[in-house]
This record gives sequence, C-alpha cells and structure tokens, in this order.
Amino acid sequence: MIQHWIDGKPAPGTGDRTAPVTNPATGAVTGRVALASAEDAAAAIASAAAAFPAWRDTSLARRTRVLFAFRELLNARKHELAEIITAEHGKVLSDALGEVSRGQEVVEFACGIPHLIKGEYTENASTRVDVSSVRQPVGPVAVISPFNFPVMVPMWFFPIAIAAGDTVVLKPSEKDPSAALWLAELWAEAGLPDGVFTVLQGDKVAVDALLTSPDIKAVSFVGSTPIARYVYETGTAHGKRVQALGGAKNHMLVLPDADLDLAADAAVNAGYGSAGERCMAISALVAVGDIADALIEKIVERTATLRVGDGTTDVDMGPLVTREHRDRVAAFVDAGVAQGARLVVDGRTADGGGDGFWLGPTLFDRVTPEMSIYTEEIFGPVLSVLRVRTYEEGLKLINSNPYGNGTAVFTRDGGAARRFQNEVEAGMVGINVPIPVPMAYYSFGGWKSSLFGDTHAHGLEGVRFFTRNKVVTARWPDPSHGGLNLGFPENA
Ligand code: NAD
Repeated sequence: MIQHWIDGKPAPGTGDRTAPVTNPATGAVTGRVALASAEDAAAAIASAAAAFPAWRDTSLARRTRVLFAFRELLNARKHELAEIITAEHGKVLSDALGEVSRGQEVVEFACGIPHLIKGEYTENASTRVDVSSVRQPVGPVAVISPFNFPVMVPMWFFPIAIAAGDTVVLKPSEKDPSAALWLAELWAEAGLPDGVFTVLQGDKVAVDALLTSPDIKAVSFVGSTPIARYVYETGTAHGKRVQALGGAKNHMLVLPDADLDLAADAAVNAGYGSAGERCMAISALVAVGDIADALIEKIVERTATLRVGDGTTDVDMGPLVTREHRDRVAAFVDAGVAQGARLVVDGRTADGGGDGFWLGPTLFDRVTPEMSIYTEEIFGPVLSVLRVRTYEEGLKLINSNPYGNGTAVFTRDGGAARRFQNEVEAGMVGINVPIPVPMAYYSFGGWKSSLFGDTHAHGLEGVRFFTRNKVVTARWPDPSHGGLNLGFPENA
C-alpha cells in the first residue's frame, strides 16, 4: 500500500478507499494508493499546523542548512527518483532525470531565501520615525499536483514554501503517488522537522478538505483547466490565496524564412517528448505561407525514426499514463479523421510490447480551428498542422485560443520575432526554442485559461506567494511627551 506521510512517518490512513497504480509500459497493477478520508486530511492538516510555529521561528541559517542537505541528497540519488517516475508515469528515464534536475534547480534557488526575503529599512522617514518591511511566512500551505510531472511540479512550490518558513501538505496525483513519499523520506534524512512536509494521498475528498480548511492559508495547484478553475474559486471563497495553473494548447508559429530542419526537430521534440503529456508540449503547428509541405515531409522523416517502448529501455517515447487516457487520445485521432483532417502519421497501431498503453507519434495536416483535435487539449502525442497565409493570420489564431501557456516562433528575422514576443498573448514565449520553460529564478505560468490567480510559480513571484509583507513604522520617543493629535499623521 502506498501510504500518506504524516508527522514524519508513513501513515496508512483510516479509510478503506484505494486506487490502483499501474506501470504504463506493462499494464500491470504494481500497487494501490490510499485515498484519504476527511479524517486523514484533518490529521495531515493538523500536523502541518502544529509544526508551523516552530518552523516559522527556526532561523534562516538553520532552515537553509536543511535545504542545502536536501539538495545534496537529491543530487546524489536522483537516478533512484527517476526510476520511480518512469515506473508509474511511463516517460523515458532520461526525461524523468531531466524533470528531477529542473526541480532541483528550484531547491538551489530556494537556498538563497535569506537574500530573497530581505526587508527594507528607511531611517528618519518622518522626523525620528523609521520604517521597515519584512516578509513573513503565510502558514501551512497546500500543493496539489498533476500526474505528468510528479516531481518537478511539486518542486516548483515546496522548496520555496519550506525555505520561507511555511509548512506544506502535498497532495500528489493518485496516478503516480510514490515519488512524493520518496521525497518525504529525503526531507527527513536532510533534517527537516516532522510535520513541515506532509504527503496526503487521495482524490477530490483530500483536495476539498485542503480547500476548505481554515488552517491552510495558501494553495498552489497545477492540473487541467476545469479543476484549476474549481480550485481557484473554492479556495479563494474560503479566504485563501490561490495560484491555479491549468491546461494548455501550445502553438508553434513557423514563418516562411525559418530554418525548416531546426523547426522540424523542434516540432518533433516538443510534440512527442514525454508522449505529449507536457503542459508545454507543442500541439498546434501553424505554418505560414508555402512551407507546410516541406515542413511536414521533414517531420514525417523524423517520426519514422522514433522508437516507442518501455521507458527503462533505449527508446524515445514511452506509453501514455493509463489505458483510459490512451483510449481517450485514440478517440481524438478518430474524431480528427471523421472531421476531415488529413492523417499523415497514425500512431494508433504502435506497439511498444506487453500490455502497455501505447500510442505512437501522430501527425495531422489541414486541421481547421473548429475541429476537436484543435479545440481540445489532447495531452498525447498528436501534432496538428494548421496552414495560414500570413503572420497576422497566425497571430490572430493563437491569440483567439482560450489557452495562453507557452508558444514559440521559428524565424531568422529578428524584427518578426520581436513583434511576435510583443503581440502574442501567452505567459511564456520561445524564439526558436520550442519549450520555453523559465529558469527557477524566473517565474513559470500562463495567461488566460492556463492560470487562475495572478501569481506564477517559483522565482520572485513564488517567494511573494509564500510570504506576507509587513511594514513597521517605529518611533522611539524622547523622554518628553509627544502631545495629542487626532488628525491623520502627516510626515514632517
Ligand atoms: P487533473 O486536473 O485531472 O488533476 C490534477 C490534480 O487535481 C490531481 O492531484 C487530482 O487528484 C486532482 N483532481 C482531479 N479531479 C479533481 C476534482 N474533481 N476535484 C478536486 N481535485 C481533483 O490533471 P492531470 O490529468 O493530473 O494533469 C494533466 C493536466 O495538467 C493537463 O491539463 C495539463 O495541461 C495540466 N498541467 C498544467 C501545467 C501548467 O503549468 N499549466 C503543468 C502540468 C500539467
């Protein structure tokens, strides 16, 4: 049984609800994860709340020492963690390792927390009155994460929250819950006090308990747009600050002057990497002018070389996460054909062996904006080519899309790229870079239906999300009395 982690140790929970965890490459059920009852959630929250006062008062020197220790342990043992990711998610090992490394970068950023939360001080703002500001932790916080990055996405948040003095309850995806437990053990080994990092396994019951508990002060959520909207609305209605990152439909605009080999490499890497189960995956390729045929030919050549199979072996692409999700993606491909798109590469017949949840690279041409393969987030290895005549037409298409997570332009023209970066409505923009995931010291987040709330993940926005600003105005009076004055204080 894959358990919770409460009060610094594994906890079986009280309920009898569980969910199967599968190895997507074999189809075998490899374990069952506990699904929290409301009582389990209450115990997890109570533990995080009890640990908060002492952790908040632990000096920055001691807190950062724990973070440095965690970073060292993680760096030394990241292969173990990557294997856990591959076994439950299916992505290839090199990709899993990349995910761990990007998470580790946030730990490294959070090690600088003393500098990041330094306050300000103004002497003699008014005569003999000094003003200072400090950033303080907000309290116990919740992190609710999706299946597709079981390590990196939680690590966008919890290193910064813990460094800032908050305590954290992580509710991982029930599809790949083991990585969170491994991280909890690593925190304990690094010297983190019990209760500062808690793992609550579960589903909507656990999420709702976190969203409504008065003890949880902030919620960082990442997942699909309908659930992100629900989490944002419910959490804020209960007085919490919430950042809820949702789904995506990322476009890559290829201008006629682009290096088509570079663009084809990028489309294949960003369209099919991690079997398209990335919120920054490219799913719509917008070809401007007359380049579509040549570009498609180059993409087809490349897809023919991709090996699909068990992510622990020497392959390029693993399976999809569950059988249901694989069938849902296949149904989108069926719908694309029925709605008149040209199926250039059909991944439905791919077979990576065993009973795995296989669906190979799939390419559609002549996709139009009304087709469901364009309007919906498929979250699988399906790339749609849309043909437009002009830059303006392509930009309008991208900006009309309800999502605005990442986008990329491919061109050799600096002026065109500059115009695109200025005009496109998306939170993250790549110029000849297909997956423009910001570094840990910048902030990750989309616009429009890709993010509810106004704070992006990690970087300075993350630090601000997990801390509250306090401004202190101080006067140490001379022995004489200041005198009565009921007017609003004017500075002099
Ligand atoms: P999901 O929305 O199904 O689940 C996300 C989390 O919400 C999980 O922890 C899940 O247990 C919980 N949840 C699911 N249904 C719920 C409900 N009805 N009530 C309360 N909680 C519920 O998402 P997923 O399938 O795990 O992940 C894929 C999605 O996440 C895609 O849409 C992808 O684009 C998105 N995503 C976005 C980003 C981003 O940065 N914007 C990053 C990664 C993934």
